[in-house]
Amino acid sequence: MNKENFMQTTINLAKKNVANGGWPFAAIIVKNKEIIAEGLNSVHLSNDPSDHAEIAAIRVASSKLNTSNLSDCEMYVVGMPCPMCLSCIVLSKIKKIYYSVDVKTKDKALTKLPLTEDLYKLISSNFAEDVIEFEHLEDFSEKGELVFKNWNNI
Ligand SMILES: [Zn+2]
Repeated sequence: MNKENFMQTTINLAKKNVANGGWPFAAIIVKNKEIIAEGLNSVHLSNDPSDHAEIAAIRVASSKLNTSNLSDCEMYVVGMPCPMCLSCIVLSKIKKIYYSVDVKTKDKALTKLPLTEDLYKLISSNFAEDVIEFEHLEDFSEKGELVFKNWNNI
């Protein structure tokens, strides 16, 4: 299969998800020109706001390959990933994403969802302090840091 076939497969999965009452998102992960994982957006089933196709596909691929390092894999998605998924993709070390719809077009087409462009702005604007209140409990700083440092020695 070539990249056009993989993208068509991804779009077909998204269409199928819609036909089953879901949201129009799907992702596949390809390694050595073979699909090793598929992911669908399942927010409609789980009510979990993080239940996105990209993360579902990463979970399947990581489990199958028994590693969190997917650097030798590529991902196909219908629309440019949201910032949450993009962060997960970076953590997985996937180096290439193929997408069919850019952020602006995605936002225009998906009138029922928050704008992906706004999510990107929010994440880049000092950790979303406009909509989320953050409180640094500094008395616990050393205790928290110690948990991190101790893990380095395990
Ligand atoms: Zn996402």
